[in-house]
Amino acid sequence: RRHVYDFTEGNAQMKSLLGGKGAGLAEMTRIGVPVPDGFTVTTQACVAAMQAGGTWPDNLWAQIEAHLDDLERRTGRTLGGSERPLLVSVRSGSVFSMPGMMDTILNLGISDDAAAGLAAETGNARFAWDSYRRFLQMYGEVVEGVPAHAFEDELAALKGRRGVTQDTDLTVEDLQELVATFRRVARANGADIPTDPREQLRRSVNAVFASWDNPRARVYRGLNAIPDDLGTAVNVQQMVFGNRGESSATGVAFTRNPSTGAKELYGEFLVNAQGEDVVAGIRTPRPLAELETVLPEAYRQFLDTMTLLESHYGDMQDIEFTIEQSKLYLLQTRNGKRTAAAALKVARDMVDEGVIDRETALRRIEPEQLDQLLHPGLDPKHTATPVTRGLNASPGAAVGRLVFDADTAAERGKAGDAVVLVRWETTPDDIHGVVAAQGVLTAHGGMTSHAAVVARGMGKPCVAGAGELQIDVAAKTVTIGGTVLTEDDTVTLDGSTGNVYVGPIALVPPQITDDFREVLGWADDVRRLGVRANADTGPDAAKARELGAEGIGLCRTEHMFMAADRLPVVQRMILASDADARGAALADLLPMQQSDFDEIFEAMTGLPVTIRLIDPPLHEFLPDLVEQSLLVQRLEIAGAGAPPSDELVAARDLLAHVKRLHEMNPMLGTRGVRLSLLYPEICVMQTRAIIRAAIAVRARGLDPRVEIMVPLVGFAEELRRMREVIVATADEELAAAGVALDYTVGTMIELPRAALTADKVAEHADFFSFGTNDLTQTAVGISRDDAEGSFLASYLEAGIVPANPFASIDADGVAELVRIGVTKGRETKPGLKTGVCGEHGGDPASIAIFDKIGLDYVSCSPYRVPLARLAAARTTL
Ligand code: ADP
Ligand code: MG
Ligand code: MG
Repeated sequence: RRHVYDFTEGNAQMKSLLGGKGAGLAEMTRIGVPVPDGFTVTTQACVAAMQAGGTWPDNLWAQIEAHLDDLERRTGRTLGGSERPLLVSVRSGSVFSMPGMMDTILNLGISDDAAAGLAAETGNARFAWDSYRRFLQMYGEVVEGVPAHAFEDELAALKGRRGVTQDTDLTVEDLQELVATFRRVARANGADIPTDPREQLRRSVNAVFASWDNPRARVYRGLNAIPDDLGTAVNVQQMVFGNRGESSATGVAFTRNPSTGAKELYGEFLVNAQGEDVVAGIRTPRPLAELETVLPEAYRQFLDTMTLLESHYGDMQDIEFTIEQSKLYLLQTRNGKRTAAAALKVARDMVDEGVIDRETALRRIEPEQLDQLLHPGLDPKHTATPVTRGLNASPGAAVGRLVFDADTAAERGKAGDAVVLVRWETTPDDIHGVVAAQGVLTAHGGMTSHAAVVARGMGKPCVAGAGELQIDVAAKTVTIGGTVLTEDDTVTLDGSTGNVYVGPIALVPPQITDDFREVLGWADDVRRLGVRANADTGPDAAKARELGAEGIGLCRTEHMFMAADRLPVVQRMILASDADARGAALADLLPMQQSDFDEIFEAMTGLPVTIRLIDPPLHEFLPDLVEQSLLVQRLEIAGAGAPPSDELVAARDLLAHVKRLHEMNPMLGTRGVRLSLLYPEICVMQTRAIIRAAIAVRARGLDPRVEIMVPLVGFAEELRRMREVIVATADEELAAAGVALDYTVGTMIELPRAALTADKVAEHADFFSFGTNDLTQTAVGISRDDAEGSFLASYLEAGIVPANPFASIDADGVAELVRIGVTKGRETKPGLKTGVCGEHGGDPASIAIFDKIGLDYVSCSPYRVPLARLAAARTTL
């Protein structure tokens, strides 16, 4: 079996075998981009080693040695030789990019002899010993598990003794001393660093294999749904040296601005530095534009290479480069991670430039990413003065209390606190804290620092490199000028400007841009599935329409009952002792409901509006049983002995009603159509309100499209009877007004029995809307409110269920009921309109399933509508 490929033998298509980095290096080599020579050990070799508990496949080492021999021959160098030494990097690289999550070792092969050889060859001893100390540090840490701070502390101490701040200020002698110190540190930590360079290589390859399974890589894979069994490739590559003096440099760049998508130079570099220095945020790097003056010749090579790479890949590239004595080398290229705003702009621009077609553009934008654009920003009218400013590393606004370490951020974020993580710089180990925080603030690092890259990927606001921050992690304080902030302080970050404010600032709803409208318009052109919104008020309906909803799939009328001015009337209706009293309360409710529907029909003129008749059990409108009992007790104690006060009499009466309506299992109790059949006067009132509103809206020259929906039907007979009441009432209203107006009556399918008998239910329904929230609860037999906080979480962790069935529809079970319901319903009524109105209507994976089943539309909350439009388009591509 073949385990190793030279860069000249691979290409971009071999990603799963060579990893993204290996395939990229091979492809760049193939198209003539300057890449240091090397070879790649396959992901399959890593998987084989993992499966064998760490034992390598038989001939793996022999193959690596053979390719190393060739590399030595091609370069005319010897690994670790005392003359013309070959140094290599040993780099991880999996199929999906996991930036910084796995390990890489630079300058491998160096030793006292090789350092002397390198110094003699280059005439630059400082650089040789700088490379040496870096190697000891990385090798010690990655391969031998020496804690990183053990080396960092010594480096900081030496700089302190010399009174310098930058690594580059250390002299040859300093670096030689550091090499000796590092060796001592390694020994003190039980690490023996082999002197044989080939043994170093063998152990390093092994360590990179093992880094696939380090904790932060696991967390990252979990977050990004990357399978755990892919393994990493290992790239062994000749070193080029950005730390070889003032005409050498290293940097990171994007071919376009990954924050805004603008077609402009974006990136950073550091002169006289090596790879990790830029991203680690230890020294704050310089903007790429300055490279033109610092190293003009390399800059020209750089521009040409950027153009070549982008047109070759047809997508924005994220590259790593090193300049050794004014000559440019590319060390990595990949499709750049970008914010949602940038994704839309790049897609639109590239379609305009003729680089890609619309379908390709749509395929590149993840629906979930759009969510970022639908989050609030800072109120532009605010007058607060920023306390400091950093780089606008990832857009959006974040408001939260300060936290100083990732573990606390994770803990408090999980508990529901809004927190902002503040760090000198972030490392891959902080990722769980970034996830849980509203935003990230760092003192060090640039636009391509770890914090910035990770935050942009997650759509978290980030302000990086706010140099004025003085952070004391132990004391949990951050000092900015004269201001000292602690864990009790709230800050506001504006990731779009880099401004940092003390205290909370009001946020405003997101703004829809032209790029957004344009790209979603392409989605609308290709999707089959309709997209509606769940909305209960006029303003929500208007918002939904603005976001592209083609109607309302679910308007919950009982939400209108909960408003402060309505609840007392609703309670009066429930508590009524006879039909007359109930009728009077309902008569008061009618005009209120009518005005609600009026607003909604107006906002949705010309588009269908599905209104669901009352669904929840009546006790939900009354006080809680326990609380009401306590109130009665309190009043009894207060008035001990005296005749009962009016208040006590009323409280006792209410308690009696609460007790009467109390159910052991209200979710499966007197609710939905059952309630309406018991008290038809409620749904008669609702039907009147709906029809009167429609008549009034029509009279204003608008076009209301009425769909009345009956919830929780399990038996066709329930719907038959209910429909009779609705039709009689509606027709009476229309006749009285002398108006002809079409309306339809349909049902929610949210009980398995309704789905299984859909052919019979359809006899009385003009449409079906699958209520997949309740359908999931009733089909799977899991109570959502009880499960999500308890066993469902452990089920997910243990892999008993592949996904939360309330977030993503259960494909084998619940979706099958939907399919049966659609099929049987259409057997009775071929043109039966069908939709879905549960949370699943806004979930891309569920949308793909609904599209396949052949539903007519999905309906989701207004802010999910754009996601749903894009997801519906992508399933057809
Ligand atoms: P990561 O996946 O964490 O980015 P990389 O393997 O890309 O790790 O390497 C880390 C850094 O080391 C990068 O900045 C890269 O440019 C630099 N580097 C890797 N290999 C070489 C090499 N052969 N010569 C010079 N720099 C290198
Ligand atoms: Mg890299
Ligand atoms: Mg329901």
